[in-house]
Amino acid sequence: MEPRVFSTRVTRMLGIEHPIIQGGMMWVSQPELVAAVSNAGGLGILTALTYDTPQGLEGAIAATRALTDRPFGVNLTFLPTLVPKDYGSLIDVMVGEGVAIIETAGRNPEPYLERLKAGNALVIHKCTAVRFARKAQAIGCDMVSIDGCECAGHPGEDDITSLVLIPLTVDAVDIPVIASGGFADARGLVAALSLGAEAMNMGTRFVATQESPVHPNIKQWLIDASELDTMFVMRSLRNTERVLRNATAEKVAKLEQRGAGIRKLAPLVSGKNGLKMVTEGDTECGLMSAGQCVGLVRDAPPASELIDRIMREARAIVDQRLGGMRRAGPA
Ligand code: NAD
Repeated sequence: MEPRVFSTRVTRMLGIEHPIIQGGMMWVSQPELVAAVSNAGGLGILTALTYDTPQGLEGAIAATRALTDRPFGVNLTFLPTLVPKDYGSLIDVMVGEGVAIIETAGRNPEPYLERLKAGNALVIHKCTAVRFARKAQAIGCDMVSIDGCECAGHPGEDDITSLVLIPLTVDAVDIPVIASGGFADARGLVAALSLGAEAMNMGTRFVATQESPVHPNIKQWLIDASELDTMFVMRSLRNTERVLRNATAEKVAKLEQRGAGIRKLAPLVSGKNGLKMVTEGDTECGLMSAGQCVGLVRDAPPASELIDRIMREARAIVDQRLGGMRRAGPA
């Protein structure tokens, strides 16, 4: 593990070495990846909805604990789903298992917050607008992770980029802010810290790592994709998702233009297709979330190598690049 470079409220509160968080991702954030990120000094986050049953989540928490004794979190996303999810039972597992760090997302977690915090968990709420961040602080969340519209998956409906959204959020709340959306390397980390955030969240970048459970075809797809290869779907449903452009995404967009609702779109957008993509490597049969930073993804190293690289390069940016500029300027 690289020696600590930055100490922030986020690293101190979460008990991690480096201000790098691997955000919750359906099907992707599974024990091996989560533990690899945490073992490298970042924070790995499991995704509760990946598991069909509370027992599945329980097993994933146990498997992660067998692989790391460092802090990790569990994500619980409250977005519309085709089949109702049993949030209550998943929360029971999280609390019963003593999960210390919980990431909520999708909508205001207030109805669940008291239960989520019953075991003294620290709650990071991931959201997409300054007003949502303010609300998260008001209801007692401990941190916010703010998602610029560059992000993978669900960027909200306002289309504000990270460069604007992060400093505005930092100005609006006192709790620590995690920068999310568009982050994939050391330059992003230093930028996030400069904007006032106290850590960066990466999703897409971690999909292309050795421990990521997705099929090699999907990793290669990310490596080959440019920043121009993502698109929005489901905007007409006010449930916008940023995905990699493929035949299914184009079809969904076309159907939306013709006024199709969720019933008509369901066979295309269903998470079941997403699961087939990541397990079988079929790049056309469904939707694959990815952020614009996919253009910065050029390899699939072990998660520890990626984190070490980011921290080494971040130190060099601050000490040499920025430090050099400072010394070179007029007195
Ligand atoms: P799913 O198969 O239940 O639904 C497929 C997609 O359709 C999802 O994007 C879902 O939000 C959307 N959807 C379902 N019912 C809808 C409705 N009535 N109106 C509008 N949109 C609707 O989803 P899944 O793949 O099993 O994923 C489970 C949950 O995790 C979903 O809520 C999904 O949005 C969420 N998710 C989040 C991210 C992220 O970026 N945080 C990424 C992937 C999935």
